Amino acid sequence: MVSLRVKTARRTQLLDITREVQKAVAESTVNSGVCTIYVPHTTAGVIINEHADPDVASDMEAAFDQMAPREGNYRHAEGNSDSHIKTALTGTSQVVLVEGGKLALGRWQGIFFCEFDGPRERTVWVKIGADRDRG
Ligand code: ZN
Repeated sequence: MVSLRVKTARRTQLLDITREVQKAVAESTVNSGVCTIYVPHTTAGVIINEHADPDVASDMEAAFDQMAPREGNYRHAEGNSDSHIKTALTGTSQVVLVEGGKLALGRWQGIFFCEFDGPRERTVWVKIGADRDRG
């Protein structure tokens, strides 16, 4: 397993980590297989979406904050219920196929770490598994 350190700068931030994950794949011995990206936090997640136009990530950040506003009639005393809710919306893992020693992403796709209670330092776990031949 590869452990990536991620540093965010804002409370809600979609951070493109495609290059870092691709580096982990390139440094592995796997040519064909599966890459799992897992975020071990309760107020941060991971998604795959368009990374060609950075405005898409900005629009999503705004939309998440609209869907779960920071202030609300929440019970959780820590004051970050909106962060937990946003994380539930994104989920905390993604799977990308690996072919030719590279992530098999669509033309416009990128992998985004989703910070919902930043800024802070975070961890992303990446596990790259090879196909197993039959017999
Ligand atoms: Zn909390």
